[in-house]
Amino acid sequence: MYLIPPHKKQYRANLHCHSVLSDGHKTPEELKEMYKAEGYSILAITDHERPAQHQDLADEDFIMLTGYECYIRPHPKGAYDIYASDVHLNLFARDPMNLKMICFNDCYCRYVKRDNALDGLIRVGSERPREYNTEYINEYIRTAKEHGYLVAYNHPYGSMEDEKDIFSYEGLFSLEICNYGSYRTNYLEHCGALYDKILGKKMHLFCHAADDNHNSYPVDHPKSDSFGAFTMIIPDEFTYDGVINAMEKGEMYASMGPVFHEISLEDNKIHIECSDVAHIFVYMGSKKPKYLHAAEGEVLTSADLELDPNARYVRVSILDSKGRWADTRGFFPEEIGLASGAR
Ligand SMILES: [Zn+2]
Ligand SMILES: [Zn+2]
Repeated sequence: MYLIPPHKKQYRANLHCHSVLSDGHKTPEELKEMYKAEGYSILAITDHERPAQHQDLADEDFIMLTGYECYIRPHPKGAYDIYASDVHLNLFARDPMNLKMICFNDCYCRYVKRDNALDGLIRVGSERPREYNTEYINEYIRTAKEHGYLVAYNHPYGSMEDEKDIFSYEGLFSLEICNYGSYRTNYLEHCGALYDKILGKKMHLFCHAADDNHNSYPVDHPKSDSFGAFTMIIPDEFTYDGVINAMEKGEMYASMGPVFHEISLEDNKIHIECSDVAHIFVYMGSKKPKYLHAAEGEVLTSADLELDPNARYVRVSILDSKGRWADTRGFFPEEIGLASGAR
């Protein structure tokens, strides 16, 4: 069976992006043009607490996903504290015209450019002051799901949450394993180790990567936050519904540069084909991943490795000579027919 099928087209997506509707510096039109020119096919402009649809910018080669980024902080009015942990979630709308605001709270609209469009949006869920605790955050996620959103967990390093808190959230569909806007400031926001712990808890989260660009610097500046991390989505059909369905089914992978051409599985053997990389890893929830390292000055483009018969899950990562990762989601034994799934 294929974990990454060789015959299906992969579409490059930036699933996390800010425009002038909140604290970004580019207009939605500029963002669409710059990402399309760079070879992207999908863009989600996810402004802070500002649902917006940009379907007028979509064309037959480019899909604009509707969504927004929400956050919940310990301060009763949501004030920013550089030392306090918080939670940021990206909401992706199943229906491109869904602009429902989840648990509206005016204190959290500090980054939003206020306009009539915002005031006219439908509000759902409790509007009591937000509470930074598991019960409230799970209520928020549940409300967002009930109202047609897929909910992703953003930049775990940048949010500084305790791992136990992350493990207690219910209903998330994907972990932002790399957030480039955060990564370029700390080189730590590639969170493969956290993703392994999440999978080890049998939490069925996929993973994706995104720029979270605000474009405070031009794209050719060393501090640019565009084009550093993306998600490859592999839909059955290149439509809004096709892309959302692929995301919901985990038919995607995260990358900072390298790409997978194929991953297939036969019996207990995994076959991987990819762009030029220096390292290939298969993580299985044990202390000993399987791996290949390229010899000095050489590259790897494929690997054939034997899976551990007791694998708790299987996920593949590749790392190139520039330190850029690509990561598949975790596949659990029962969904890929591994013997360990029967135990
Ligand atoms: Zn954020
Ligand atoms: Zn953001």
